[in-house]
Amino acid sequence: MIEEIIKKISEKSGKSEKEIKRLVSEKIEELSGLISDEGAAHIVAKELGVDIIEKRERRNYRLNIGSVVVGMRSVDVVGKVSYISPVKEFKTNNSTGCVASVYLVDETGSIRLSLWNEETEVLDKIDVGDTIRVQGYVKDNRGTPELRLGKYGKIMKSDEKIDVDVGIGQEYKRKKICELTLGMRAETRATLVQVFETKPIFEVCPICGKRVKKDGDAWVCEEHGEQEPKRVLLFSGVIDDGTGNIRAVGFRENAEKLFGIKTEEAVGKDIRELIKGVPLGKEFIFRGRVKKNDLFDRLEFMIEKINDVVVLDEIKNLLD
Ligand SMILES: [Zn+2]
Repeated sequence: MIEEIIKKISEKSGKSEKEIKRLVSEKIEELSGLISDEGAAHIVAKELGVDIIEKRERRNYRLNIGSVVVGMRSVDVVGKVSYISPVKEFKTNNSTGCVASVYLVDETGSIRLSLWNEETEVLDKIDVGDTIRVQGYVKDNRGTPELRLGKYGKIMKSDEKIDVDVGIGQEYKRKKICELTLGMRAETRATLVQVFETKPIFEVCPICGKRVKKDGDAWVCEEHGEQEPKRVLLFSGVIDDGTGNIRAVGFRENAEKLFGIKTEEAVGKDIRELIKGVPLGKEFIFRGRVKKNDLFDRLEFMIEKINDVVVLDEIKNLLD
């Protein structure tokens, strides 16, 4: 198939096939081999301003997830579902709609599929751990490729075997940080190595738990109006286990454990003062879920429980 694509780029750009091949291999090298031949060819075509998929013969190119790049108008990928977001409703000036995200992983990477409005109905039939095939197009989400179905898109179950552990189930599997993948529920033994100077307290509505906004002296929930807010303590830092590190975020009792302070006592205190109470360099067993921070496009460990390291348990873990 790569020969076919190169031939097409050559025809449309007026450059020789040899020249196109050179550009493709340069692109692969530039991206440190992290991309397939086809993926690189698509980028080269885009850089040359050549549209290699003609409308009347538009078809889906089967690709590994790691080869999907922004700008592809038509792709066909198979991946295992690692995470399904709740459906979020939104309002614009004259209409309402909803959106949800499904994360797909294969041996080469992960990608977000966003589903809009009636497309979200398919979520009734999909679970984390299912393997699905998606035919759609690729949208640019702040530089990161994102799958969309669009008018001609399709989504279906697949019985292909994808050898990726997405950590299904309620139990926390013990993992090294380098093994963590998006959506996984895991337990990791790691050292707290850094704390960030983020605002440690935020205010939420006591009814719905959503953030409230300050309006003069009052706190206002978008839905419930003026409320006496509840205070939530937030910890944000980095944990490291020697195989890798990951940004870790904890709320409420988890943040209290890491700061060594109760939320009520932390209100009004400066983050720099709170950081003094953090046991940097101490090891814990962190349990939680691997999430994606869309704003910064990175994985984060959302802490659900923190346990102290109990040596006897650890020995048992090694023997298991
Ligand atoms: Zn509210």
